[in-house]
Amino acid sequence: MLIQFKCPDCGADMTFDAQEGVLMCASCGHKEQADELKQEPKYREVEDSTEASTYGSESTELQYQCQSCGAVIITEPNTTATSCSFCGSPVVLGDKLSGALSPKYVVPFKISKQNAEETFKNWSKKLKLAPADFKADMKVKSLTGMYVPFWLYDLLGQGEAKLNATKSSTHREGEYEVTETKHYEIYRQVDLTYNKVPADASKKMPDTLMDKLEPYEYNDLKKFDTPYLAGYVSERYDRDYKEEFPRVEKRAESYMDNYIRDTVKGYDTVSFSKRNYQVRQTDASYTLFPVWMAYSMHNSEEHSFFMNGQTGKIVGDTPVSKGACVAWTALFIFIFGIIGALIAVLLNDMALALALPGGIIGMIVGVIVGLLVVSSWRSAMKGVMTAGSNTYLNAGQSKVLRQYDHYTHTTTSKRKIENNNNN
Ligand SMILES: [Zn+2]
Ligand SMILES: [Zn+2]
Repeated sequence: MLIQFKCPDCGADMTFDAQEGVLMCASCGHKEQADELKQEPKYREVEDSTEASTYGSESTELQYQCQSCGAVIITEPNTTATSCSFCGSPVVLGDKLSGALSPKYVVPFKISKQNAEETFKNWSKKLKLAPADFKADMKVKSLTGMYVPFWLYDLLGQGEAKLNATKSSTHREGEYEVTETKHYEIYRQVDLTYNKVPADASKKMPDTLMDKLEPYEYNDLKKFDTPYLAGYVSERYDRDYKEEFPRVEKRAESYMDNYIRDTVKGYDTVSFSKRNYQVRQTDASYTLFPVWMAYSMHNSEEHSFFMNGQTGKIVGDTPVSKGACVAWTALFIFIFGIIGALIAVLLNDMALALALPGGIIGMIVGVIVGLLVVSSWRSAMKGVMTAGSNTYLNAGQSKVLRQYDHYTHTTTSKRKIENNNNN
């Protein structure tokens, strides 16, 4: 079953408009609400009749007939939305989005293609450490808007943990500095609920980069409907929720660590000594998230970039040029060296003899500043971290069931105070 969205006024193809959040006709500007469509569709849903003969056949490719130009559209088994390769008309493959394969939710695109292009361009300009030819080659033009399949897990995290904590105080006894450290044994039993923790359900998409695209804002989460896919590419999941579970389980366990750690307050050091957690899945919802994808080749390696189609956050595996790192650090050393030399000379009544030592001190400062700045640029290129541990916490349904902080013992250490009075 192939679905094409034809404008009721002029018959041209309608696509989902990210900025307005409606189905829009590119040729006459006619608009229709995307989420009200199912009730009383005013647009014409054109369906082809080839369904029975092709769907369920043993071939891995599925064939559909484009209702705009009549060409045969051949798709891969996982494709759920694409466009006709002959006339460009957007098509949604309804048979792969129904029954058990029907997504429950969708976060619609909010960033238009034009918007995404500009954002990618501005971002790539700021990549100071990327090789010059890579930046020049960055093919923002080949931007693809894709609805990526995700599982959203509702999780119940139950368990207990023991922690060791210390509190220290120092005082002076004669010529000694005495440190008293009080040791505590801490116990927490928790019952935590996490809602809609995402994990991408596509083998093709790199897991860590998909994680870094988070968070998506769930106030835009809509009940799934096919018009949202019009004009975009989409695939069905090829990893089921059981296959993806170990990934969210691990994540929930680290979230539990953070929750427990936040309840232990007023100590100087805290460390886990024992954990016993169980993470159970109470629900998993098949959901589509919007992602803009761009590819770039560099030294015959493919680099991919992804943008959260709702928030505009970009992640990617950008190549880092060693030459650029060295050049930027050298520039910092040079600039700070000159500044150091100038300061030394000016502060000492134009004593030129001090230019060299002043310059050397300046260069040392330049090395430190250069390394710090360059490494912060490097980490910015790798993308920021994934969503924090409270993003998916359902605070109202989460609590500490049992807890204690027991004082166990005190240790003492002595240190002789060095005599600093050299005058
Ligand atoms: Zn129209
Ligand atoms: Zn066509």
